[in-house]
Amino acid sequence: MLEFIQIQKSYGATRVLSDISERVEAGEVVVVCGPSGSGKSTLIRTVNRLESIDSGRIIVNGQDVHAAGKDLNSLRAGIGFVFQQFNLFPHCSALENVMMAPMSVRGTTRAEAREQAQELLARVGLAHKSQCFPGELSGGQQQRVAIARTLAMKPPLILFDEPTSALDPEMVGEVLAVMKDLARQGMTMVCVTHEMGFAREVADKVWFLDAGRVLERATPEAFFNTPQHPRAQKFLSDTH
Ligand code: ADP
Ligand code: MG
Repeated sequence: MLEFIQIQKSYGATRVLSDISERVEAGEVVVVCGPSGSGKSTLIRTVNRLESIDSGRIIVNGQDVHAAGKDLNSLRAGIGFVFQQFNLFPHCSALENVMMAPMSVRGTTRAEAREQAQELLARVGLAHKSQCFPGELSGGQQQRVAIARTLAMKPPLILFDEPTSALDPEMVGEVLAVMKDLARQGMTMVCVTHEMGFAREVADKVWFLDAGRVLERATPEAFFNTPQHPRAQKFLSDTH
C-alpha cells in the first residue's frame, strides 16, 4: 500500500529524513513515535506531497507519488490526511463540511453526498450534530467531523498527524475510539501519535524515529516491553 524507498530530505544544511526505507501493507496500522523534531510530521507529509523529498521514492498503491507530472489534486484525493488542527470550514455545517470534497473533487451529486455524509457522521457518533457549525462543536467533535470528511473520499490510506494533541484530555478518548473502530474495520493507517495506549491496542507496527531515522520498527509488544535501541529505551522511560 505504501512504501518509502531510501528517502532523504534536508532543510538547508539540516538533514531531517535520513535513508528511510519502510513498508506499510494494506490493512496495517502503523504508529510513528519519537521525540519532538525527529521528523515524524515531515515523513508523513511527504506521502501526499505536502513536503518534497530530495531523493528516494514513495510508492502508494503502485504509484510513484513524487514522479514529475503527477496531478496533485487526484493524488491527495486518494490519501486521507487528518491534522492536529481540524481545518473545518467555519461557515459550513458539519454535514456540509463532509459533503464538500466528494461533490467538488469526485462530482458526486448533492443528494448522494448528503446521504453519505449523514452515514459518516453517524459512524463517528455525530448524527445529531449534522446541522451544527464547527464553532458550536467541541474540539473532539470537530476532529470527528474532520475524520468523517476524510472518509467521505473513501481513501485506501489515511495518515494522522497527532490528531488528539490539540484536544482537552477528556476529548481524546472519543477520537481514539473512532480511530480504533477504523483500524478494526481494516483501514490502512499511519498515525503519528503520543497515545501509547492506542499503539498497544491497535498498532500492527511501531516505528521509532529519532533525528530523521527509523531506529526501531517492532510490534507494539516488542517495542514497549523490550525496546532494543538505547534512544528508544530513553524515549519510553522519559515519556512513561
Ligand atoms: P516532528 O513532527 O517529529 O516533531 P518535524 O517533522 O516537524 O518533527 O520536524 C523535523 C525537523 O525539521 C525539525 O528539526 C524541524 O525544526 C525541521 N523543520 C520542519 N519544518 C521545517 C521547515 N519548513 N523549515 C526548516 N526546518 C523545518
Ligand atoms: Mg510533528
